[in-house]
Order: sequence, then structure tokens, then C-alpha cells
Amino acid sequence: MAESSTSGNRFRTIVEPFRIHSVEPIDFATREQRQEALVRSRYNLFGLKAREVIIDLLTDSGTGALSTRQWAGMMQGDESYAGSRSYDRFRETVASITGFPEVIPTHQGRAAERILFSVKVRKGDVVPSNTHFDTTRANVEYQGAEARDLLIPEGRDTQSEHPFKGNMDVRALAKTIAEVGAQRIPLVMMTVTNNSGGGQPVSMANLREVRSMCDRYRIPLMLDACRFAENAWFIKQREPGYSAATPLDIAREMFALADGATMSAKKDGMSNIGGFLALVDPETAVAARNLLILTEGFTTYGGMAGYDLEAVAQGLWEALDEDYLRYRIRSTAYLAELAEAAGVPTVRPPGGHAVYLDASRLLPHIPASNYPAQVLACALYLEGGVRGVEIGSVMFGKPQPDGTEIPAAMELVRLALPRRTYTQSHIDYVGEVIGAVAAKADQLTGLRIVEQSIWLRHFTAGFAPLLEP
Ligand SMILES: *Cc1c(COP(=O)(O)O)cnc(C)c1O
Repeated sequence: MAESSTSGNRFRTIVEPFRIHSVEPIDFATREQRQEALVRSRYNLFGLKAREVIIDLLTDSGTGALSTRQWAGMMQGDESYAGSRSYDRFRETVASITGFPEVIPTHQGRAAERILFSVKVRKGDVVPSNTHFDTTRANVEYQGAEARDLLIPEGRDTQSEHPFKGNMDVRALAKTIAEVGAQRIPLVMMTVTNNSGGGQPVSMANLREVRSMCDRYRIPLMLDACRFAENAWFIKQREPGYSAATPLDIAREMFALADGATMSAKKDGMSNIGGFLALVDPETAVAARNLLILTEGFTTYGGMAGYDLEAVAQGLWEALDEDYLRYRIRSTAYLAELAEAAGVPTVRPPGGHAVYLDASRLLPHIPASNYPAQVLACALYLEGGVRGVEIGSVMFGKPQPDGTEIPAAMELVRLALPRRTYTQSHIDYVGEVIGAVAAKADQLTGLRIVEQSIWLRHFTAGFAPLLEP
């Protein structure tokens, strides 16, 4: 993966900044086995067994590799119910990076969201965000409030090269405040990077503007900080004035603009499980801890084992390592280049954790009602055992009473990169698989849904080919 030099040497190739310490074999399911698996799972890739997948790009959540230091920390996990040493280490790390004094461990990001919104959000409230992640939106709506996305228009244009396509439209925020009134806006949320918007970053300037708008109306600002380190790296690369700052300095500056954060440690916590809610306000923290004890566990472990607390405490520092971030963000861009070279358009510019293939432009002959992104995802699996996820009308289409559907705005296949898990040859292979599928794109035919549930149908829907190949 050639580009700017790896720190400390003059060569152009960015090598993975790790050696492999323990290995997990890949089963190479044959084409016949993959065809059978597709039929068995009714063309829904969530129905595959992991061993039937060769390169698994379903998600970057909790799927990364741990480091030797994380494993070493885990061996020292203190499993005491109350006051464990591992909690102290976790709390000190989170407080040091975020600057937030109140650190509440949770088993995942959504648990932090549920607790925060239970404490702060009331029926009829409006919670603005650049873009709410699915679980965030669901937890806001569960409180009877409205989750409102206020992304800048460039963020919705797949071909815009705007450097910070995750930014909030600050004028739209002002309009929302004027329209609903500050008393009905318990908090503003900023997702860094913007997962549902393609892993696109938010600039420091935008965070500052949102902060001053919040200050004017005394509305707290919270970060959905799942990919805070990747966001910090984009700021360092793209925002004037930050090229000499370290990712840690930048992350601290981001957090200093907020009143708290929810975090899934399965992303930039570099761990397989875990999360936290971190806050400035001690009163909110007291209420949150009361709920934590009700559903997650005692305040010094909150649904995590002592060894999980250790893995996250170490992982948060590793996510901020410059060599790691350079490799991480370059890997994503490299996969996007391979896809583009193979003739498959992607969402531009590539985000932090994933590449999004534009199925509607690759498969213009398949209408949204026959799920072109699901067709593409299945074709990548059949061709080379690569598993991505449809982000299109299967996920976001709205079935109507007359049996038709309002299609999603975009038909995308997301290829998310687990952290420190695949090497360049794995990614080269994925590029070849994309190329092989693109070469026969005009032969691919649509799917129809034969079975679906009312909620979150993409997880369980069954499909059948319109034409058998
Ligand atoms: C993953 C994610 C969450 C939810 O975290 P979980 O650990 O999966 O519960 C929330 N927000 C964003 C932006 C995410 O990517």
C-alpha cells in the first residue's frame, strides 16, 4: 500500500505496524459449498456460518485482533466485584483521554446510550445529531423522543469530496432550536466518525460551532465517540492547523468541547466487547449509576469482566498510535482504490472503517425493488467468500400497505475492515473478487423477498432469485 511514508523510514510502502502473534485458520469454503450456503440462508448473509466465510467484512465491531499488551493486561484482570484494580486502570485511561471525571463502564455502546437517554430524554423531546447511529436512534425513540439527523448536504452526496462529510449543518441546528425550543432539546449528539454516513469525519471547526450554538441555549453536547481516534486522524490529515498535533492532543480537544460521551469499545476501544458513558456533570452521573446497577452491574464493572476492562484500557491507547492510524486509514483507502480500479464506484472519499460500493451504479439494470445491493453482496460471497453487508432498500426500504416499497436513498454494500485482522494480501484478494463480480455485472439478476419481519428485517429476511442462474 504505497503512499506517504511510514514514520521513521523513507520507504513508500506502509507495512502493517504489527507482527502476527497467534493465528486463526481460515476455512476455504468451495464455490459449491458457498452456493449451498447461499440457498440455505435464503440469500441473507447474516444466515451464514462464520466458517463459510473466507474474508469477513460484515462489521468492524468487536472483530479486531488484540495486542500482546492487551492479552498481558487481561491476565492481570482483577475480577473483584467492587473496587477492582482493573476498573481503576480503565477509569484513569478514559478520564485521561476524554478529560471527563465521571466514568461509567457498560457492556456495549448501546447500554451507555440507553442509560444516558433514560436519564436525560423525555417524551416529546427532540435529539439532534449529525446522524444518529441505528442503536442511538432506537434508544432515543424508545424514550418517546424524536431523533433528528442534521447532516450537511455534502454528506448525502456520494461523490462529493468534501473533507468533513460528517459535519452537522449548524444552520439546520439553529432552525431546529428555534422551531422546537431549547427546553425540548435535552442534548445534542455528534457521531465521530459518522458511521451511518459512511465513516466520514467531523471537523474540529464544526464541533466548535455546534458547541457555541449549544452554549448559547445551554444545551449539553454529547459525543458518540465510537471512532474518536479515526476522527482525530482525519483532523490531523485534513484540517488546517492540526498536522503537527498528536492524535491524543486532537482527541482531547474534541472531548473538551463536549459534556460527555457514549462509547462502544468494540470500535476504537480495540476490544471484542465493552463500552462506557463518560460525563462532566456529577448529578447526571449519580442518576446514570443508579440505572447501571439495575441492569448492567455494579459501578466498577458495569457488565464487563475485569479482563475486559483491562483490554479496553490498553486498547484505547493503542487506537491513538500514529503508526496504527496511518496504516488503518490507508488500508481503507487502498481497498477503495482497488474497487474503483475494478470499475466499481464507491462512496467518496473513503471513510475510516469501511468502503461503500455503489450497487445502483454498478447494476443499473436492477431496480431498487429487486435489491441491487443485496444482489451485489451475495455475488461477492459466491464469487470469493467475501461477506459485506447491504445498506440499501433491504435495510431502509419502507414497505407500503399495497405491497410496494419506498426505496432507500442509496443502494450500497459496506465492506467494513476489522482492526489489525487482515493483511494486504487479504485485501488484494478482496479487490480481485470485486473485479471478477464487476466483469459479469450485467449477468446478475435481481432478488425478491419471500419472508420478512416487521422490525429490522435485514437481519432475518429470506430472498429468492427472480431468475435462477
Ligand atoms: C457500534 C456503534 C454504536 C453502538 O455500539 P454497540 O457496542 O454495538 O452497542 C453506537 N454508535 C455508533 C456510531 C456505532 O458505530
